[in-house]
Amino acid sequence: MKVKFITLGCKTNFYESQALGEMFKANGYTVVEKGMADVYIVNTCAVTSMGAQKSRQQIHRIKKQNPDAIVAVMGCYAQTEPEKLQNSPDVDVLVGTANRSKIVELVNNATKGRQTVLHTDIMKERSYEELCVTSDQSRIRATVKIEDGCSNFCAYCIIPYARGPVRSRAIEKIIEEVTLLASNNYAEIVLTGIHIGSYGRDLKNGIGLIDVIEQVCTVPGIMRVRLGSIEPVVITEDFVKRAQKLKNLCPQFHLSLQSGCNETLARMKRRYTTEEYMKAVKLLRENLEDVSVTTDVMVGFPGETDEEFQKSYDFCKAVGFMQMHIFKYSPRKGTVAATMPDQVPEQVKEDRSKKLIELGEKMKQEFYESFRGRCVEVLAETRTKDGRFHATLANYMDVYIESDEDISGKIVQYTVE
Ligand code: SF4
Repeated sequence: MKVKFITLGCKTNFYESQALGEMFKANGYTVVEKGMADVYIVNTCAVTSMGAQKSRQQIHRIKKQNPDAIVAVMGCYAQTEPEKLQNSPDVDVLVGTANRSKIVELVNNATKGRQTVLHTDIMKERSYEELCVTSDQSRIRATVKIEDGCSNFCAYCIIPYARGPVRSRAIEKIIEEVTLLASNNYAEIVLTGIHIGSYGRDLKNGIGLIDVIEQVCTVPGIMRVRLGSIEPVVITEDFVKRAQKLKNLCPQFHLSLQSGCNETLARMKRRYTTEEYMKAVKLLRENLEDVSVTTDVMVGFPGETDEEFQKSYDFCKAVGFMQMHIFKYSPRKGTVAATMPDQVPEQVKEDRSKKLIELGEKMKQEFYESFRGRCVEVLAETRTKDGRFHATLANYMDVYIESDEDISGKIVQYTVE
């Protein structure tokens, strides 16, 4: 039996698809990336209304093109809107963001003609569902999931309803997985999850994110450790003091901003101010070398006036990001913001988005310029079509280097052009 994964959304979803792929392989299935399959697993996304729409379209398209195949749907959209999928002829197996480790069994049942729904209340989940990845396609960089869920309930966000409360993975399991990946020659580990800054909050044993980072950094063979998205409140004096000692911790910090205006942040129910954000950035830059700060910014949150947007724009400029991901706010049913007054017209969101994208491009160029002529260490990744190697600095700058040898997966010296 051939199984094919269609994954939408974030790194966590891709990690989970990868882990389930390994589980299918262990049960005699062949995981295919191209061509037809007997089983399709659609790992859905719900973070924006676009993510939900794309998930619906994919499910429908797959069943239409493969009427005899088993279509199993999982992930955030499946968790938040099961009523749209439960009785659909397009869906043979439905799970949400729990019980994914039972998916092989559910698919096997479906091959016997039984539609299977195993959709539970994610808000009641209290333990981390153990899934494990031992290798992935890139062979250079592996994602390791360290926690699931978020208990923050930002006003615009559906994720706490899709993923449930914070559940941290046992540190021993994380280290076991990283050790396995190191023995499979992975050079870089990216620690990911839904809200990794909350790691340990549920464990109540005093272990937090920095403890996990320290232990992962000491696994023999791991050349680099990178963090997924965190919030500025994670960056404390203690954090940077301990991070300073970790030579293989990448100095790239994706500090989620969402808005550079305090009034908007308060309406969003974010738990920091712009002053606290800037303090975190300064702490990083003053204590670690060649730090790059990347972020997400949302435009058009309900009530965002021109003046508020301008504050947000000016703040982004003052921080000097290496990279910004710009999102247009989209109402998600069931969230506080969906019913807020003063929803911003689409055209205004579009214009604000364009302005920030332009600013982001300019800041990125300036950041890259500041490295010109410097000799730095880069991790060579894959060969591109023009014969060069795509490589990354520890701070995640991309460069392209010439080499006749296969240097993929190696750290080499490079003078930035
Ligand atoms: S911190 Fe806020 S934006 Fe991030 S996942 Fe949690 S609720 Fe959503």
